[in-house]
Amino acid sequence: MVRVAIGPGDDVEAWCTRCRMNLNHRVIAVVGVEIKRVHCLTCGGDHKYYPPKYEGSGKKTAKAGKIPSAVRTVKSREAAEARAVGEWKRMMDEMPAEHTPRPYRLSESYQPAEFIEHPVLGKGRVMEILGAQRISVIFRDGRKILVCNKN
Ligand SMILES: [Zn+2]
Repeated sequence: MVRVAIGPGDDVEAWCTRCRMNLNHRVIAVVGVEIKRVHCLTCGGDHKYYPPKYEGSGKKTAKAGKIPSAVRTVKSREAAEARAVGEWKRMMDEMPAEHTPRPYRLSESYQPAEFIEHPVLGKGRVMEILGAQRISVIFRDGRKILVCNKN
């Protein structure tokens, strides 16, 4: 899988200091390869980028929380990938047995929580409507931004 460098306007999973959850954030500022500022797509707040928090790192919000070192970041990225698969499975488990996911098409419009099937990425579920023509969908490979409502 090719990893594309993150730039402003991209969506990343990050810890929201207001919502106190790992949520999708739009990147506002990047310095070098480091994400500096993000915009929470849930509460609409702008704040410093904090990497997503996972079990084991404790429930407390990091008051004086240090951003993990580069080495830790690589390790937690693997954990994040494993967790993404777990999240996807949980989401897909909610699909009723008789339900057929809707084939993904650029021209269609989608609703949150809808099950879809992408020709390349496979089965997924709409997590968030990001705008008139963008949706965030979770696939086995993780969350992807897909275009919709396009003529
Ligand atoms: Zn938030």
